[in-house]
Amino acid sequence: MDTTIHLLEKGNNLIYIKREDLIPFCFGGNKVRKAYLFFNEIDTGGYDSVVTYGSSSSNHSRIVANMAFKRNLDCYIITPKENFHKTYNTKLIEKYNAKLVIATLEDIGSEIEKKLKELKLEGKNPYFIQGGGHGNLGTEAYVQCFSEILNFEKKEKIDFDYIFLASGTGTTQAGLVCGKLLNKSTKKIVGISIARNISRGREVILESIKDYLNSKGILFENSLIEDSVIFIDKYIAGGYGKYNQDIIETIDQNLKKYGVPFDLTYTGKAYTGMKKYIEENQIFGKKILFIHTGGTPLFFDFLNI
Ligand SMILES: *Cc1c(COP(=O)(O)O)cnc(C)c1O
Repeated sequence: MDTTIHLLEKGNNLIYIKREDLIPFCFGGNKVRKAYLFFNEIDTGGYDSVVTYGSSSSNHSRIVANMAFKRNLDCYIITPKENFHKTYNTKLIEKYNAKLVIATLEDIGSEIEKKLKELKLEGKNPYFIQGGGHGNLGTEAYVQCFSEILNFEKKEKIDFDYIFLASGTGTTQAGLVCGKLLNKSTKKIVGISIARNISRGREVILESIKDYLNSKGILFENSLIEDSVIFIDKYIAGGYGKYNQDIIETIDQNLKKYGVPFDLTYTGKAYTGMKKYIEENQIFGKKILFIHTGGTPLFFDFLNI
């Protein structure tokens, strides 16, 4: 895949950006990198339908819906009733003819089971993808991304001290950390939480890392794994989808100065958090890589606020 890395900001530190938003499928983003691996399995496994979980405005839902449509597979998205509002992602999901199954948050698990059972009774062979592309394949996608970063460094003779990213389900961060461990890298990988508190956020990332390494039969000292997970929940601005004036200004500035679109839920929130973290921890003279994890349709929602 090898997405572009370029310099964004020259100040107290050099801030580079890796443009996962430019992955050439359906407005890109980390959900595409993950979905390619899931759909590889679908293509080779004789599946005829896809079931996943995601909100009606999620990037994951959009990508899965498009990939399913392209293959002429039925796509069912179990969607929480809470926070249901129409966004550009919702409109795209409808264009791809995905079927939204709306359920309350507490019924999501049973609705997924019900849909899978129903399809099997009809003689179908459905494939299930966890919300956000969580799971070992999603982790693998970002182990691969970490290798791309190392290749870039070798080619450009540069060494990033830090990698920052928006952390949601934590799969992207888990993949990058696995890449770091497997390559014995000393980079600090900092996940800026966009919703979860530190205890839940860390727990899920650690689980994903251990799951992935176990599946490969590779062992690392627990303390090494623990030390490699930096998850910051200071900048969540009130929770998922919530935002503040700082985030709005960061997005505005990045758009005008650099021509790069960010959004309120993920990249804008994470970039704002990163800048605060750099300041609060007095980080100077470092080379920093920010991963632009995508979400371009959410940028257009931002223009509507
Ligand atoms: C889903 C998403 C994230 C978070 O990725 P996780 O692997 O769930 O932590 C970050 N940015 C964007 C744009 C996303 O869509």
